[in-house]
Amino acid sequence: MCGIAGYVGDRNAVDVVFDELVKLEYRGYDSAGVAFLNSEGRITVLKKAGRLSELSLLIESSRPCSSSAIAHSRWATHGGPTDINAHPHLDASGNIALIHNGIIENYLDLREGLVHRGHQFLSQTDTEIAAHLIGEEYEKGGTLEDAVIRAAKQLRGAYSLVLLSLKEPGKIVAYRRPALS
Ligand code: GLU
Repeated sequence: MCGIAGYVGDRNAVDVVFDELVKLEYRGYDSAGVAFLNSEGRITVLKKAGRLSELSLLIESSRPCSSSAIAHSRWATHGGPTDINAHPHLDASGNIALIHNGIIENYLDLREGLVHRGHQFLSQTDTEIAAHLIGEEYEKGGTLEDAVIRAAKQLRGAYSLVLLSLKEPGKIVAYRRPALS
């Protein structure tokens, strides 16, 4: 079962979310990653297959400092446990980063529509499909939470999402769709 963390505040957000992943390590995972708003006004994604210690080396080498970050430890369901399939995933514009727990059941149908509309994907995950779909909704206007709510109407399955956006620094959006009982 994967771990999800997000933080906005006065402390170094990357350290905070990484420490949260360490606390969730007992749940098991095959890869991990972090996304944060960098000092150049872009999103940096650092992700790695394997143990959190591998991710930690990557983080140490880039010495990030940010007030907003999200982090994920993954149990692969769609696509193998590789660096590229690890979360976070970006939308087509690179303006939003997404981490995700669970399964998007209709991701193949959604993927077909997105490919038809010119989207290209780097990973084999259902998560990247959701990131691009939310990005498309975001382009139509409104806040990040508006876009997530509109996209969620098109996503089937039980899942949790956490996102950050370049356009709305200082905000983390989280959305949970529980399994139907
Ligand atoms: N289905 C997603 C993937 O394979 C999320 C897996 C998870 O919950 O960690 O990347």
